[in-house]
Amino acid sequence: MNDYLGAHMSISGGLHLAVDRAVAAGCSVLQIFTRNSNQWKGKPVSESDAVLFRSKFAASGLREVVSHDIYLINLAAPPGDTRDKSIAAFRDELETCARLGINKVVMHPGSHLTESPQTGLARVIEAFDLLFNEVPQFEGKVLIETTAGQGSNLGRTFEELGTIIAGSRFPEKFAVCFDTCHTFAAGYDTSTEEGYRDTMEQFDRIIGLDRLQCFHFNDSKKGLGSRVDRHEHIGQGALGLNPFRFILNDSRFATVPKILETPKGDNNEMDAVNLAVLRGLVLQHLP
Ligand code: ZN
Ligand code: FE
Ligand code: FE
Repeated sequence: MNDYLGAHMSISGGLHLAVDRAVAAGCSVLQIFTRNSNQWKGKPVSESDAVLFRSKFAASGLREVVSHDIYLINLAAPPGDTRDKSIAAFRDELETCARLGINKVVMHPGSHLTESPQTGLARVIEAFDLLFNEVPQFEGKVLIETTAGQGSNLGRTFEELGTIIAGSRFPEKFAVCFDTCHTFAAGYDTSTEEGYRDTMEQFDRIIGLDRLQCFHFNDSKKGLGSRVDRHEHIGQGALGLNPFRFILNDSRFATVPKILETPKGDNNEMDAVNLAVLRGLVLQHLP
């Protein structure tokens, strides 16, 4: 398809099968975990699996593939076991992505747990100063994701994401992933035209729109400012269709990947349904 819409796909049975799943659902772009998302240590990707993935992807017609870090990782955690494991797992992620030819890695900034947001943000900055130094073969970007700000999760405000980028020794290695469900739950109202304009104006002023390099397209079960992260099918939640219509018809984002993380349905039928709803929002003739 001639757009940048797609979905997160399972790698069950092999990394390359995610490519097939994306093509079958009618995707133009794809997001994957490069390993089992609930284990610290993934089975290393063999050279033949890497080659297979790269050739399958190259032949697929898909325009982009992005990786998402595993949920266990918390680079904002205080010194100790969780932090050590998180840094090791992220190092592995960057190395793996370099081998797979993936140059965007979406990550959650993490949770400061019992300390202040500032302390947590400083730890994230420090972790990436180390990681980018250690994995120079990763030539892509790390995309920090906007979050709903549940509990002590960092990333609820554009200011927090901007702080990480500004504090890094490698600011050019960072971009941002804008999750429509998370930003709404965090209090940014993109469901009205005025709210959308204001949200993007703030993003531009605080982070810069050139850094907005991926969208996660999810409706939200919970309301504006709820700080609760629950994804819903497109148009069936508190967001409605408006935010998706605004983004899809905003020429600034024409070539930015837009990825579903919505429920798959009992027979994996829902990605195609949600993609069709989204494609129906694209205005052919702007007034
Ligand atoms: Zn995410
Ligand atoms: Fe997301
Ligand atoms: Fe989420």
